[in-house]
Amino acid sequence: MSAPTHAKVIIIGSGPAGLTAAVYAARANLAPIVFAGHMYGGQLMLTTEVENYPGFPDGIMGPELMEAFRAQAERFGSIVHNVDVTEVDFSRRPFVVRTAEESYSADTVIVATGASARWLDIPGEARLRGRGVSTCATCDGAFFRQKHIVVVGGGDSAMEEALFLTRFGSKVTVIHRRESLRASKIMAERTLHHEKIEFIWNTAVVEVIGEDATTALRLKNLVTGEETTLAADALFIAIGHDPNTAIFRGQLDLDGAGYLASDDGVRTNVEGVFVAGDVFDIRYKQAITAAGSGCRAAMDAEKYLEAREAEHAVSAR
Ligand code: NAP
Repeated sequence: MSAPTHAKVIIIGSGPAGLTAAVYAARANLAPIVFAGHMYGGQLMLTTEVENYPGFPDGIMGPELMEAFRAQAERFGSIVHNVDVTEVDFSRRPFVVRTAEESYSADTVIVATGASARWLDIPGEARLRGRGVSTCATCDGAFFRQKHIVVVGGGDSAMEEALFLTRFGSKVTVIHRRESLRASKIMAERTLHHEKIEFIWNTAVVEVIGEDATTALRLKNLVTGEETTLAADALFIAIGHDPNTAIFRGQLDLDGAGYLASDDGVRTNVEGVFVAGDVFDIRYKQAITAAGSGCRAAMDAEKYLEAREAEHAVSAR
């Protein structure tokens, strides 16, 4: 069997965090290998216009922005593979990273696998994604000025999204499956007493209705079983995110919610393995913050490699 391909830096993930790490690592002459996943580009590939990424005063489409990130990473020598990593072994050095087809080894690994918004998995949801159905109020809220906006969820994210969306919508309706909120008291208070926000309790959204745009939602009262139709222009789903950490279980420390644990937002519990972006960040979850953390991870990976090389040079004398 031939030796696995070796890289000084392997980056797992290709959203703003992974590809920014790639730009920095490549410009440091580290020729990073990026495992972009078969659905490369991260969450921005699922959104339409991005209006809050600095440098684009007229906005830019999410997929176009990610193509630009990728082109910039490749321009400096990053090798980007559109394949998923299926397994890692961080218990030995060099580290081992496997895909379905091949095995790679690396001196450092930057984990930037992101988080995936949970979806309701109901009829109409996937078809109308980007046409009224969204999981990101910061990204898409401004498209619904003076419209009726619905938010699903009863946690802090849903409250935060609902409050944010009052800037745009004529009315915001929060639909929650129970009759009490999971959200923190302060967020719940703010939302419950907001003049533009209404609540519908004990209710599930069971279908999104519309041809080219969302026009209505089919609702089901979970106590009575009654089904009704609610006219709405947008549905923001805020029922939580799942960090993409399944392949790191048992390899890296995770926190109680399954996010990668890190004491400084860059290091993990394994020396030489770094973290960037939403896979760690439960708080900000923005493209720009992910990009910033990708930069930090690459700079720290570079420093780590330099320190190791210096150590080897001393011990070789
Ligand atoms: P979360 O606290 O897990 O809440 C998810 C909400 O979605 C719950 O109300 C849950 O209902 C509902 N839900 C889950 N699956 C559903 C489904 N299939 N259909 C309908 N409803 C569903 O998630 P989160 O709100 O994203 O918050 C995650 C963490 O980040 C929390 O610790 C939160 O405090 C924190 N956070 C804080 C802030 C802030 O302080 N400003 C902002 C955002 C997030 P049930 O209640 O019935 O389970």
